[in-house]
Amino acid sequence: MALKCAVCNASVIGNDEGICTQCGMSGKLVECSSGHKVCGNCLDKAAYESIRKICLESTSSDPYDVFMQIIDDGKLRTHDFKHHVAVGSALLAAHRNGGTRIDLELMLDEMRKRGSKIPPGACGLMGNCGAAVSVGTFLSILTGTTPLSEDTWGDVNLATAQCLIQLALIGGPRCCKRNSFIALKVGARIASEKFGSEMDIPADPVCQMHDENPDCIRDRCPFYKV
Ligand SMILES: [Zn+2]
Ligand SMILES: [Zn+2]
Repeated sequence: MALKCAVCNASVIGNDEGICTQCGMSGKLVECSSGHKVCGNCLDKAAYESIRKICLESTSSDPYDVFMQIIDDGKLRTHDFKHHVAVGSALLAAHRNGGTRIDLELMLDEMRKRGSKIPPGACGLMGNCGAAVSVGTFLSILTGTTPLSEDTWGDVNLATAQCLIQLALIGGPRCCKRNSFIALKVGARIASEKFGSEMDIPADPVCQMHDENPDCIRDRCPFYKV
């Protein structure tokens, strides 16, 4: 889903330098067909609000469905560090929707707080894809794990590790969708097998977004179909 305007949902027609029509800050702006020019900070805010709202209102117990509702709302770029929050948030929502009583609002806030600290490009720059860390973060929040935990400390690190192994074996360059699809499935499987979550484990999707990604690895991607 191509990026949409953070204010009015119209199509984004380009980039510009100048004053943000929302907050008055000057800098790089995204311009929509209705004339809004929105800065990166305001785009981030709109995206995080979109993720939160969609997760709270969602009823699906399949984290892929919740994730795709977020993507279809058009507030995340094709490659965007906010996937680091979207993956874990979709898993939290699907877990709640599977019938487990949790304080989803509180957990989504925590997911945003922690996920937004994962740096952009962490996959290639740190060898630590943010979609994978989002799964470790999801399980940490779900289980209340801390650096001093004994029982679940291994589980949350293993969750990130299992995502990393799967996406590493496919190779680069990065794709936030490919890595998110892998992470959602690994997260759902571990939450269900180890922590009794009743969320659905997503089937492998067919990616509809390869035309938006000039770096798509096409035949090397497990989700690519012509
Ligand atoms: Zn607009
Ligand atoms: Zn702004």
